[in-house]
Amino acid sequence: MKKIPLLLSILLIAHVAQSQIQQIDYLLSWKGDGLGVTVTVKSDQDTLLFTYATDNGGFTDQMSWFQDLTVSKGRVEVAPNSRQLTVLPVKGNATFSYTVRCTLPKGYGSPGGCLWDMFRPDIDDKMLFSRTENIFAVPQDGDEIPVSVKWKSLPDYPVFCMYNPGKGTGPFRGKVSDIAESVMAGDSLLTVDTVLIDGHLHYMVTALRKSPEKNKADLKAYFKTFYDAITDFWEYEYDGPYSMLFFPFRENTFEMTGNGFSNGFLSRYDATEDTILTIGRRDLFTHEVGHKWLSDGSAWFSEGFNEMQTAYQIVASGLDDPAYFATYFNVALEGLYHNPHRNVTGEEADERFWDDGSYIWLLYWRGFNYAFHLAGVYEHETGNPNAWKAMMKEVKPFLNDFTPEKFLDAMSRLMDRDRLLRDYEKYIVKGENFVFTPENLPSGCAIVTQEDGSPQLIITDSALFAKHFR
Ligand SMILES: [Zn+2]
Repeated sequence: MKKIPLLLSILLIAHVAQSQIQQIDYLLSWKGDGLGVTVTVKSDQDTLLFTYATDNGGFTDQMSWFQDLTVSKGRVEVAPNSRQLTVLPVKGNATFSYTVRCTLPKGYGSPGGCLWDMFRPDIDDKMLFSRTENIFAVPQDGDEIPVSVKWKSLPDYPVFCMYNPGKGTGPFRGKVSDIAESVMAGDSLLTVDTVLIDGHLHYMVTALRKSPEKNKADLKAYFKTFYDAITDFWEYEYDGPYSMLFFPFRENTFEMTGNGFSNGFLSRYDATEDTILTIGRRDLFTHEVGHKWLSDGSAWFSEGFNEMQTAYQIVASGLDDPAYFATYFNVALEGLYHNPHRNVTGEEADERFWDDGSYIWLLYWRGFNYAFHLAGVYEHETGNPNAWKAMMKEVKPFLNDFTPEKFLDAMSRLMDRDRLLRDYEKYIVKGENFVFTPENLPSGCAIVTQEDGSPQLIITDSALFAKHFR
């Protein structure tokens, strides 16, 4: 009698272990005006939920890119505009195909100026650009599921897949999380160069329209200096190559925009420009590399603190002088002051993030102001001028699983908890104006009021100010 429950539990465990998706294979085929995707799923589950695309960019018409669905095994139900596919395997198998077909319409535009180019696929016989969530429908909550990707037929131009660095369109094996949020880009001028940093090979991908040799040399020098410095800062253990992808807009003359991923970054920029590595783009690239570490949680942290990191690292890595921190921070300081939504609550700011450019920037600047405020409080309580290093050391353990509670617990190990909670409530939850006084400012600087009423950071003691970065 005693053995029956044991047997039963073994059977139950075996059943649970089998009731998952065992493997997903993606086969890509070039259609001339779009990318065909065939998905083969092996699973013993009756019903599987897949997601197609994201709501990044604030779009609601993602399913218009998902075309020509055909199902050859099992069943697939697509709920209109929900971006959700219900896959119903038969005898443990389901196979379905669709084509991703989307090019930017003439006269397109968006409040942010470049969001269409970034978050919509743009695919034809001249150029292929897509974030991979627009290519691969993936199972919900299935990050660890094994996947393979193969190309059956190719466009005429070379294609770089950030999830398969250095291997072009060669076969890929990995897991869902590798391909779910990444990018692929193809172009007749696409080149892939290797960059050696600390004995490790990384990739630099360009599709340069002008002065390719000079631009490549500039970008490579930046990549080497900066990536070396920021990986040292985080005491980062190498876990594979990092790819920097510089890809021109097709027609947009917007200066630049970017996206950071765990194993690389993408920047798109005005293709008519002669010089790629301007100060503005250097700062953008630096911000995007920073997302390798700061990318989880509400935008006040993932974007705002990443802006603080950008300003800090540009100085700490020697790319610019300490005075440049003030120049960079003043954009956020003045930008927040002039932002029409500067006093909306944190909840509203999160919800309306994609509504228009001023909502997008709101949380970048609010978070950057808050990070600067905390750095000042920390220095006053401890006497240590390098607040950023101390703060990041505390948040490092939960970077991929960020919650405000963990953040506040971590910061309360560095400063008075009651004050910390009060300030968080005031600045992040309620959206009140920041009050910078000499008692809570980092040393060597002051905030002055300009003629139009907006605040500005000035450096009052260069030697003291420089200590924040060492
Ligand atoms: Zn960002």
